[in-house]
Amino acid sequence: MKHYPYEGWILDDIDLDETRRADLEAHLALCPRCAQLSRSLRIALQAIRNAPEQKAPAGFIHKFVSSFESRRRLQERKQARTLAIVFASTALTVVLVSLYVFLPELSLISLAAGAISAVVGLLEGLHHVISFISNAYKNLSPSALIVIGLVFAGWVLLASLTLGLSVWKLAFRKSEVKQ
Ligand SMILES: [Zn+2]
Repeated sequence: MKHYPYEGWILDDIDLDETRRADLEAHLALCPRCAQLSRSLRIALQAIRNAPEQKAPAGFIHKFVSSFESRRRLQERKQARTLAIVFASTALTVVLVSLYVFLPELSLISLAAGAISAVVGLLEGLHHVISFISNAYKNLSPSALIVIGLVFAGWVLLASLTLGLSVWKLAFRKSEVKQ
């Protein structure tokens, strides 16, 4: 028995004209296979149409999008901050060097005073850090010290990686703009 084009008509689930409908009905009456197909499809479609609509939780898409946006913004802000630090330290170095080179007699004293106070401040900070570390060394167990050392090393590594990445990204973007 030929099932063409009746299988196609059944599966397409479209409205047939009078002649074709009669044709199909006649075939379904004779052909158990196509009759079964038609019944199964009708049951399946009915089940799909009757299934309750599942709605996403209220505000799901909004929450998803806004959390994505805020994460992206946070990352951009972090990168901008790192870049700003790099720029600021570079600019400061350039300013100090050019002051020293172009205006030696004018700026040497104030520069020296500034440098000395900076060094003193740094040494004071360093002294605090050292006393903190020596206190910690006396009070903490060796394993805790190792953990602290590892965390510190990891932090330094992460900081240098971030710095390197920012500089690399800056160079990369600049070369992209040039092209
Ligand atoms: Zn058939």
